[in-house]
Amino acid sequence: MSGQQELLRSLPAVDRVLREKPLQDLANLLPQEILTSAAQQAVADLRNQLLSGNKLPDKAMGPLQVAVSAAALCQPYLQPSLRKVINATGTLLHTNLGRAPLAKEALRTIQSVAEGYSTLEIDMDTGQRGERYSHVRRLLTQLTGAEDALVVNNNAGAVLLALTALGKGHEAIVSRGELVEIGGAFRIPEVMEAGGLQLREVGASNRTHLKDYQNAITAETKILLKVHTSNYRIIGFTSDVSAAELKPLAEEKELILMEDLGSGMLIDLTPFGLPYEPTVAETVKAGVDVVTFSGDKLLGGPQAGLVVGKKELIERIGKHPLARALRIDKLTLAALESTLRLYLQPEQVVENLPIMRMFNAQPEEQKRRCQKLLDRLQAEDLPIKLTLIEDFAQVGGGSMPQVQLPGWALEIAVDDSSVDALARRLRGFIPAVVPRVQNDSLLINMRAVAEEEEAVLAQLLIAAIRSGD
Ligand SMILES: *Cc1c(COP(=O)(O)O)cnc(C)c1O
Repeated sequence: MSGQQELLRSLPAVDRVLREKPLQDLANLLPQEILTSAAQQAVADLRNQLLSGNKLPDKAMGPLQVAVSAAALCQPYLQPSLRKVINATGTLLHTNLGRAPLAKEALRTIQSVAEGYSTLEIDMDTGQRGERYSHVRRLLTQLTGAEDALVVNNNAGAVLLALTALGKGHEAIVSRGELVEIGGAFRIPEVMEAGGLQLREVGASNRTHLKDYQNAITAETKILLKVHTSNYRIIGFTSDVSAAELKPLAEEKELILMEDLGSGMLIDLTPFGLPYEPTVAETVKAGVDVVTFSGDKLLGGPQAGLVVGKKELIERIGKHPLARALRIDKLTLAALESTLRLYLQPEQVVENLPIMRMFNAQPEEQKRRCQKLLDRLQAEDLPIKLTLIEDFAQVGGGSMPQVQLPGWALEIAVDDSSVDALARRLRGFIPAVVPRVQNDSLLINMRAVAEEEEAVLAQLLIAAIRSGD
């Protein structure tokens, strides 16, 4: 018998592995099938290693060691996969990390609506069936000046719904400079196709003129669509036609003027050093008939798609079967209503809405917070080099890609262990920590880290650095 065959025969049996303590300890936490398949997997991994000629220490083949590996394979079942992250990347509306953190007030409302029954669809005056949108309609019309409003699951859904309900079987005209891809295969041409609309592209990527729209209108045209080019910029020799400029044309030809604002904002954000963009109210005032925007971008609320505009059009949108398919759930609605309510007192929004607090964070304050973290880590005598550096934060979520919010970061350079391994250990914690990895060091940008997360962040950094020794 060859040496390899002999080794293969000495692999522990799955039954034997299952009797070892690491798996026995999991017996009343996880179903037997999961433990068995983990043990089979661990044995199979060893077999594959032997077959590919790897030399393994004897100890690795012992039943106990195999059971330890099998127990590690069970870990994903024992901790929540969707869990809290401390976002130290400096990207505030990080789409992969869940975009906007919610206001305290929104969390309280979610809790109270989630733990029992609610007024979701009941008219409390009459006791009769009510309407889901009613909870945010008055707030949204008040805050945007629109005649009517409705909300759905997300803005991609809002765009698809509005186009389908208003334009199916007809043509919509869009500038070539606005045929954007938002990410995750959400591209305007494909949304049009899905909604059963014929897309008429006009102009060139960098320049579109009013006459381009004029010349493209046919008897089939129903919608003039403007799309915010949120996540990219065309610079240089450019021109586009604003919604206000399109309005007279839309009126003359009796077309619907629609604008997808992407991250629409309810208040002017220039006081925070962000570039000027028309608010939703200004867009409505410019005469746009239907405006769509996201709940969890610059608005700072939960994932949702908001649609505001002319009453007759919003009603048509609300009656379309897709509206039911895309309907907003009660927890989101609770969070959205609370978030919108905060905007009734614009002077307190900075205090109450986390995303506004982050925009408003001053470089000096961030330097102080980074210094505090530095001092805390310095006291531990760790094998690292700590430096305060000037750093920029980004808005994220595809919003305002050109904006760099000035501030500070703590740079952590590790002596021995690799920076990627350190970042991986940080991601494994509960809560997980996601820093920025840059030039062989970790950057901790505090702008998206809440004050109450600071102490835990320091502890987790220390633990991750220590366990790499
Ligand atoms: C982000 C964005 C969307 C999609 O919004 P979600 O809320 O992510 O569904 C659609 N259009 C534009 C212009 C956007 O920026």
